[in-house]
Amino acid sequence: MEDALREIIDAVRAGTPVDAVWLDKLVRRHNRAAHDGTRRVAKRRLLPYYLAVRANEPEHWAAWNVDEATDRAVVRLLQAKPRRTASGVATITVITKPWRCSSQCIYCPNDIRMPKSYLADEPACQRAERCWFDPFLQVAARLRALTDMGHVTDKVELIVLGGTWSDYSPAYQRWFIGELFRALNANDDERAREAEKRRAFYEALALPRERDDLAATVAPVQKRIDAGELTYNQAWPLVYESDAHRVVAEAIEGRSDGAAPRPATALDAEALALESTPRPAAERTGHDALSLEGAPTPISSAAIERLHRANETAGKRVVGLVVETRPDLITVESCQEMRALGCTKVQLGIQSLDNQRLTANGRAIDDERIAEALALLRLFGFKSHVHFMANLLGATPEADVADYRRLITDPAFLPDEVKLYPCALVASAQLTEAYEAGTWRPYSEEELVAVLAADVEATPPYTRISRMIRDISATDILVGNKKTNLRQIVEGHLEAENASVQEIRHREIAVDGADAASLTLETVPYRTTVSEERFLQWVTPEGRIAGFLRLSLPTMNLSAIEGAFLPAQPGEAMIREVHIYGKVAALHQTSEGTQHLGLGRALVEEACRQAADAGYDALNVISAVGTRDYYRNLGFADHGLYQQRGLQ
Ligand code: SF4
Repeated sequence: MEDALREIIDAVRAGTPVDAVWLDKLVRRHNRAAHDGTRRVAKRRLLPYYLAVRANEPEHWAAWNVDEATDRAVVRLLQAKPRRTASGVATITVITKPWRCSSQCIYCPNDIRMPKSYLADEPACQRAERCWFDPFLQVAARLRALTDMGHVTDKVELIVLGGTWSDYSPAYQRWFIGELFRALNANDDERAREAEKRRAFYEALALPRERDDLAATVAPVQKRIDAGELTYNQAWPLVYESDAHRVVAEAIEGRSDGAAPRPATALDAEALALESTPRPAAERTGHDALSLEGAPTPISSAAIERLHRANETAGKRVVGLVVETRPDLITVESCQEMRALGCTKVQLGIQSLDNQRLTANGRAIDDERIAEALALLRLFGFKSHVHFMANLLGATPEADVADYRRLITDPAFLPDEVKLYPCALVASAQLTEAYEAGTWRPYSEEELVAVLAADVEATPPYTRISRMIRDISATDILVGNKKTNLRQIVEGHLEAENASVQEIRHREIAVDGADAASLTLETVPYRTTVSEERFLQWVTPEGRIAGFLRLSLPTMNLSAIEGAFLPAQPGEAMIREVHIYGKVAALHQTSEGTQHLGLGRALVEEACRQAADAGYDALNVISAVGTRDYYRNLGFADHGLYQQRGLQ
């Protein structure tokens, strides 16, 4: 390891052109030189070793004689998956505990080890399972892994996944989010100490963690689900009403009466009827573990506010917080609740706007309710990240293209981001019946690529297509797309056709830097049913995007319909997002990328100017907790769930 690293440092210092291919060759050469068949140098261990020497061994580090520029170049070369922080922030995905969903979508996986719709083989799910789905432990583990890979983690976007957020109880929601903030607010030592206590608590409870143990517990139940004898919701109490699970749930919810945890929304009556009768606390085992220091405790709304305030100046600040839910659960109240927790973006499972198709696929919602949900999210300032599926039951390639075209052109929808998935069949989904009956078939690769290519080509410059596949492993997919590089195939097809692609992700400068002097600021205006939107973007001469801002100028106040609180009052505009690309920069440090070059500030000033010109007298911003200070420095004052700057 030492020899390989010295050679890398020497090469970088000497200005030798180095890249991933060069590094692979070097690693292979060093391993061949070992002559005993052992792998002396593992590529993924190089960076942790390098960083450990830099942090802990001053004499060793001095002997390497690494100057600042060499250090930066070596880290960049050794970094695995540099795109992880290419969007300007470190993303941490966490998964909520296994829980039911009040919908019955026929394509939805039913893996009882996971929250509804997730599969235990997905990487984030595996990580969550190893952490007992504890949010603190998940963040602690992820921070460690990202740091080992050489990523800067002082600005974090938290993505909370797992079934339907709004179906979890408010107490669980508060605890989950509060623990995420606690983990980020702690310093490295505090976090490590607390994580150790947590693990001791879960071990003492004997909550199954190892995959084999869990598989033995749930295998018979999963078999009945796969055979269609039980739904996920019916099976859930059979697995999660054990004493150990109840102890954790009750500790989080602050209850001691033995009552079964209740979701925020009414789940189907059948599932609730199946919940076993709770036994008095004294009869149950596992309570001893509650006396351990690492045991979970409820988190109040006031505590959430304190945790938010602490994060404003913490070393790891939350610059975005995302939850996922369904459009029928988006109300004024749920928007307020999500905002109070610090959410800035909502992932919304839409899948289709065709009412017949929605019904055929078990989704109890229509296009009007979807439009209302998107309007509410927009007026509350949230970014919308919708899930849209091709190849649902009842779809054809032509109908899919038309459906997506409506999503991105009809002013009632126009989401900010889209996860564009092809429907894939997994064993536990109800869709297997339609497949066996011959009423559903997966598209051929040619059909699928044609649909997705048409969708990508039609996507406007203010919309980002974040993904084209779900993280489902090929072994879980019975039929349907198994290619993980589907996006590359689609983009290759578009390139061959010489098509022009405008969507954001295709244009992001990603890991490259940009010459700030060459950037121009463009405004792309568009109208929705409730607002005039201005998409302000910094673009390079080649049309690549270095940063953007989403400005909403509300034209319709939904209070006329809802008669309830809405954040943007008449005369108030809203900044829904500010994003600058380039390699993430440590707070208060200079960066190689485009961050901290004043691009964000310039976008905000331009938004103020445009909102004032349009006759608005105040501008709100849906700031993430960790960005409040940044906006205060730009003249914004705290204003309820938002921050506001006067424009007069
Ligand atoms: S709403 Fe989402 S989690 Fe619930 S059943 Fe449908 S796909 Fe699954």
